[in-house]
Amino acid sequence: MKIPPSDRVTIGDIEVARLLDGTLRVDGGAMFGVVPRTLWAKRAVPDNENRITLALNCFLIRTPDTTLLVDTGVGPDIDRRYADFYSFERNPGLFGLLAGLGLEPADIDIVVNSHLHFDHCGGNTLRTAEGKWNPAFPKARFIVQRGEWEQALHPVERDKPSYLPARLKPLGESGVLALADGDTPLAPGVEAVLIPGHTAFHQGVKVVSGGRTLFYLGDAVPTAAHLELPYIMSYDLYPVETYNNKKAILERAEAEGWILAFSHDLRHPLGSLRRAGPRLEFVPAGEASAPKKV
Ligand SMILES: [Zn+2]
Repeated sequence: MKIPPSDRVTIGDIEVARLLDGTLRVDGGAMFGVVPRTLWAKRAVPDNENRITLALNCFLIRTPDTTLLVDTGVGPDIDRRYADFYSFERNPGLFGLLAGLGLEPADIDIVVNSHLHFDHCGGNTLRTAEGKWNPAFPKARFIVQRGEWEQALHPVERDKPSYLPARLKPLGESGVLALADGDTPLAPGVEAVLIPGHTAFHQGVKVVSGGRTLFYLGDAVPTAAHLELPYIMSYDLYPVETYNNKKAILERAEAEGWILAFSHDLRHPLGSLRRAGPRLEFVPAGEASAPKKV
């Protein structure tokens, strides 16, 4: 299987590839927060139920000696209710794509979740015939921020629809979980970086090699259509923190020529920023000659 140029990038001696677990449809208004429909609908065309299509992006990061997986989509055992409500579609999904690349689940050394909402960690565990949940990657360490883990296992009432603790608990019980407290090195050149806002302990992943940097933004900037600062999801628990963190990251990304990786962008999972006078342009990976207005 070949990964298209829009979905992969090499940073020094580290390879990063988007693996699509599937797509779902979410209310466009909720995805763009305070931004009026007349503005966001130019960037993300809604269907007749006002929903836009989102990708469930997972990223495979291969360093010379470590294979990491960043976020795991909704997973193969998504509940019917969720699948119907979100018009979820998968073909072939994360596990099918890994197999297409010749990788077994046991080849993954580290799984890191930006946060534990069901659409970012669903593939962490698989359901057995007896209805138990087991780690889907038998040799992996699972890395999550400690605060996020506590929130997910004991969600407050407002967060209950977003977290599925029964599927996560076995990770804690089987000794494969490594809880992080703030920024944490994952492998040479790969680091988890705290970006609070979407949740209190939401994190991104920074990859640095050969003088270049890639930054996975998680849900801080879910698609390239969210690059402008006020474009923040209604789902964010702390939108002012998202705003401030996003501003700081994007300023560095522009100044230092970072490649950005998005959690929910279907067509442009990877790309960079380019200044054109007063305007900032987004340059999708694999399309260096066709910048898009931010
Ligand atoms: Zn998300």
